[in-house]
Amino acid sequence: MLVSVALPLPLYQPLTYTVPDDFAERVAVGSRVVVPVRGRKEMGFVVGDGARRDGVTPKPLIAAPDATPVIDPALLSVCKWVAEYYVAPLGVVLRTALPAALTGADSPTPGAKTRRLAVLKRQLPTLIERETTFARAKRQREVYDLLESLGGSAPVELLQERMAFSPAVLKAMAGRDIIEIREEVVSRDPFAARGTPADAKLSPTAPQRHAIDALSRGEPGKVFLLHGVTGSGKTLVYLDLLRTLVNERGKTAIVLVPEIALTPQTVSRFRAVFGDKVAVLHSALSDGERYDAWLALSRGEKRIAVGARSAIFAPLQNLGAIIVDEEHETSYKQGEAPRYHAREVAIVRAREQGAVVVLGSATPSLESWTNATSGKFQLLTLPDRVGGGRLPNVRVVDMRIPKGQPPPKPATTSEALARLVLSEPLEDALRVRLERKEQSILLLNRRGYSAFIQCASCGAVEVCPNCSITLTYHRSPERLVCHYCQHAEEPRTKCRECGGVVLRQRGLGTQQVERILAERMPAMRIARMDVDTTSGKWAHADILDRVAQGDVDVLLGTQMIAKGLDFPNVTLVGVVDADVGINLPDFRASERCFQLLSQVAGRAGRGPKGGDVFIQTRVPGHHAVVCAVEHDYERFVKQELTGRHDPPYPPMLRLVNVVFSGVREEQTMQLSVDSAEQLRAMLARGAADVAIVGPAKCPIERIKNRWRWHFMLKSANARQLTKVARYLAEQLPVPGKGQLRVIVDRDPVSLL
Ligand SMILES: [Zn+2]
Ligand SMILES: [Zn+2]
Repeated sequence: MLVSVALPLPLYQPLTYTVPDDFAERVAVGSRVVVPVRGRKEMGFVVGDGARRDGVTPKPLIAAPDATPVIDPALLSVCKWVAEYYVAPLGVVLRTALPAALTGADSPTPGAKTRRLAVLKRQLPTLIERETTFARAKRQREVYDLLESLGGSAPVELLQERMAFSPAVLKAMAGRDIIEIREEVVSRDPFAARGTPADAKLSPTAPQRHAIDALSRGEPGKVFLLHGVTGSGKTLVYLDLLRTLVNERGKTAIVLVPEIALTPQTVSRFRAVFGDKVAVLHSALSDGERYDAWLALSRGEKRIAVGARSAIFAPLQNLGAIIVDEEHETSYKQGEAPRYHAREVAIVRAREQGAVVVLGSATPSLESWTNATSGKFQLLTLPDRVGGGRLPNVRVVDMRIPKGQPPPKPATTSEALARLVLSEPLEDALRVRLERKEQSILLLNRRGYSAFIQCASCGAVEVCPNCSITLTYHRSPERLVCHYCQHAEEPRTKCRECGGVVLRQRGLGTQQVERILAERMPAMRIARMDVDTTSGKWAHADILDRVAQGDVDVLLGTQMIAKGLDFPNVTLVGVVDADVGINLPDFRASERCFQLLSQVAGRAGRGPKGGDVFIQTRVPGHHAVVCAVEHDYERFVKQELTGRHDPPYPPMLRLVNVVFSGVREEQTMQLSVDSAEQLRAMLARGAADVAIVGPAKCPIERIKNRWRWHFMLKSANARQLTKVARYLAEQLPVPGKGQLRVIVDRDPVSLL
C-alpha cells in the first residue's frame, strides 16, 4: 500500500511512502505517521493515496501511532483550502491545526504545579533495532512508539490515558535506560482560579430577539454580520443562539475572541451559561492541558470551544455555529506560516460542516461590510445600547498652533514641550480625577517608528501622489519617501495648503509620556502597558487586575489597553495623539484609527459615574475622528470606501504582500528588484490581470537585524492571484547567500 504524506517542512508536495503490513490497519487518511525524510525522522500526516513515480522507490514508514485518524475528513478539507489559498505547505497547516503534544513540538510553560514527564533517552531509528530491543517486551515497544509519536516526551498521565499499561513498564524502560522520568512544571489555569459566575439570564430586547431568531433559522453555511454598537448586547445574542443550538439541538460550536487574556469577561459569561461543556483554549495551557482539551472536544465531552485564532481548528463534530467576536481585529490573522485569517477559515469550515457563521463587531471590517451590503452576508443590526447606558462625552482637543505663532523649538522650556504632548484640558481633567480618586486611561495610538511631515497650523500631511498613503520622512539624505512605490520628494518647509510651518512628527514612546506625567504630577501612580512591560503570558491580565483593584491612577499604554476598558472607576480616557495612527504608511491606517477611537469613545465611562474622552489631534476634521466622535459607522464607511477606489485597495480588489528579507541590505533590495522584474515580464506574457506595486523598502525597514523590502500584487481575480503567489512561494529562485528569505502574505492585515 502506498500513501501520500504531508510533512511540516517547506515542501509544497506530499511525499509517497509504503505502508508495512504491521501498520496497515492503523494507517488511514488523517492519521499521523513517522517517516524517514532527508536522513531524519519526521511526523507527517496521511492525506491520500500515494503514487509511484518512475525511478523513485518509496521508503517504508516507520511508525503509525494513531488507532483512529487525528484529523477528520471535513477538517482535512478545510486545511487543504488553507494550504492552497494562503500558499503554505499542507503539513505546516496540519501541524498548526493540532495541539503541539500530537505534532512533536515541545514547549514547557512556567507555573506552580508539577507532574511526571516521560522522556526518551535512546533512539531506535530502524525497525530492526526495535525488533531486537523489544523482542520480549511488546508493551515496552508500544509505549516507545507512543512516546515517539508524541515527540519524544509526554506526561505520564497522558500516556496512560492513551494506552493501558502498568507502571512497571515505565520502571523497566527507565531501568534499561530507554527513557527517563522527570518532574515537569505545569502552568496555572487562570480561568479555573477565577471560578464561574452565576448565569444571570437577561431577556433579549426586540432587536436582539430578531437577531437570535434569524441566526437560529440560518441555513447551513450562511454568514451573518452582527453589527451592534458598543454596549448593544452582542454577547447575549451569542449565548441565546448557542442555548438553542447546543442545549436544544445537540450541536457544537466554536467561539473565537481576539485574545483570551484581554477578554476574561466574555469568556466568563460563556462558562456561566454552559459550565463544563466549554473548553477554554488559551495560550497559558501547557502542551498536556491543551491536548486534554483537544481530546475532550474530539470525544464530544466538551461541546463549545472558546479561544483565540487557532481555536478555529477545534476538533468538533456536528458543528452548529462559529462565532467570530470583534471580527475586525487584526489578531485573527496569523503572522507566520500558515498566514491564515481565522474569519475566512471560519466561513470555509462552516460551509464544509453545515454551520452558521456570526461575525460580530461595532466597527466591522470594510471587507465584511461590503459583503453584507452586496448580499453575500446577511446583515443584522443592534442599533441601541441595552439598559439605556449613557455614551461618554467625547471631546476633540485641537492641537494645532494658530498661524503666526511659532511652534516651540527643543530649546524652549519643558513646559512648552510638555504642552505638545499633554494639552491643558487633558492635564486638568487628569488632576481632577486624581483628587476624586477616580482612574484614567491614556492611550498612545501606537509605538511610533514612522516619521512624517505635518503642518503645525492646518494639520495637512504629505501623501504619495500614486498611492495615497502618507510619505515617510527620512533624515539622510533628507527625503519624503513612499513605502509602497518608492516615490521620493524633497520635504517642504512651508505647508502646501496654507503656507504654515511644517513639523516633523514621530510617534511618542510610552516612556516619554510616562516621564512627562511623572514630572508634572508626582503623586500619580502610573502603570505602563506596552510590548516592553507585557512579555509574560499573563502580564496583561496582571496589569488590568491592578487597575481593577484601584492600585493605579493612570493606565498608560498602546492600543492593547483599549480592550481592557471595562472598569467602573475609570472616568477619563485620553488619546494622546490620534494623528500618528491616521498617518501610518498603511492604506488601512484610517480604518484602524476609527476602530480604535470608536472603541474608546464607546466603552469609556461605563460605570454609574459616567466618563469623559479627550482626543488630541491636529486633524480634527478627519473622517476617522469626526465619525468616531459621532458614533457614525456608516458615514465613516462611505467616506473610507470612496478613498479605496483610486488607487484601488481592498475591498475593491485583493492584495498579496511579498516581503523579502536578508542580513545584507544590497542583496535584499536586489532580490526584490530582480523578482519584480522577472514577474512583470512573466505577467506581460501570460496576460494575467495582476498588477505589481513596488518594490520599495518596508515601512519598518529592519527587524531583528534583517533588512526588509516588499512589493504588492493587486488583482480582482482571486484565482490568478493564487497562481502568481504559488509561483513566488514555490519556484522563485532565491540565492543561497545572505540568508535571504521570501514571505508571501495573502490578504495582509498590516503592510508595515
Ligand atoms: Zn497648513
Ligand atoms: Zn507611492
